[in-house]
Amino acid sequence: MANIGFIGLGNMGGPMAANLAKAGHKVKAFDLSTEALDKAVQAGCMKVNTALEAIQEAEFIISMLPAGKHVHGLYVSSEAPLFDHISSGTLVIDSSTIEADVARSVAHIAKEKGIEFIDAPVSGGVGGAQAGTLAFMVGGEPAQFDKALPVLECMGKNIFHAGEHGAGQIAKACNNMMLAILMAGTCEALNMGMKNGLDPKVLSDIMKQSSGNNWALQVYNPVPGVMENVPSSNQYQGGFMVDLMFKDLGLAMNLSQLSSSPTPMGSAARGLFNLHKEQGNGGLDFSSLIKLYQEK
Ligand code: NAD
Repeated sequence: MANIGFIGLGNMGGPMAANLAKAGHKVKAFDLSTEALDKAVQAGCMKVNTALEAIQEAEFIISMLPAGKHVHGLYVSSEAPLFDHISSGTLVIDSSTIEADVARSVAHIAKEKGIEFIDAPVSGGVGGAQAGTLAFMVGGEPAQFDKALPVLECMGKNIFHAGEHGAGQIAKACNNMMLAILMAGTCEALNMGMKNGLDPKVLSDIMKQSSGNNWALQVYNPVPGVMENVPSSNQYQGGFMVDLMFKDLGLAMNLSQLSSSPTPMGSAARGLFNLHKEQGNGGLDFSSLIKLYQEK
């Protein structure tokens, strides 16, 4: 069992750290929020008062932070950057969803200091984090991936080596752009069917057995009452927030810009989620996008 320093114990990081502790690892946990920290302690983690304390004697350091500026700040550019204190045998695993170029640049700085750093963003949401069934998309060297695997397996079910540093973040941006497009298309089709008198459950069943079948129809129907145990049947509470989808679409657009990749559908999806967010729906699950199509 390993000594692990875990930094960022929010909706995702809290249950991920809890699963590591449950698997028998010694997890020193730190978060700026005392509430988040207290929850992690109740789940079997050891409380520390600073990020620096969390990384003492750590064989692995895992971070799960809101955005690229937090990751860059923590390791590189804050007043007391952790890269000044991490020993060379330690593997740093950043699971935050951030810009691929920030992940690459932090990995490059790490390498210059003799530190191992990989990007390992996740898919699967809070439910997947709690159940330990997340998908991890890893960017880094093959040996770093192999070293991280037993630790990632305590938190996830499907663990992929996407490629070199930054590749995990690229895979994550592609996946979530695709998800946003699928959800927007599903909302659009279901709304048109309903406006023309179809029962959304009947229409969903037809499309699931036809060429319009997709993940949103299969497990995440956006129309309330069509499926049980999905956010649409719970006033769009829980699940994956519009604010986070909007953030991820921003990362996808950044990637599209940097690589001159045409993404007209992703760009349209970002516009739709932006409008929906500006109408006060940022805290709802992203399947609430269907409200944008419906008459008020
Ligand atoms: P969150 O806001 O719930 O948690 C982030 C935590 O980081 C907070 O508790 C905050 O206090 C802490 N934090 C921020 N800066 C810190 C610092 N310098 N030191 C210590 N702690 C610090 O966010 P979340 O939903 O857990 O998401 C975390 C990451 O996972 C994001 O990058 C997000 O895009 C990604 N993600 C989220 C989901 C989801 O469904 N929530 C799914 C996949 C990926």
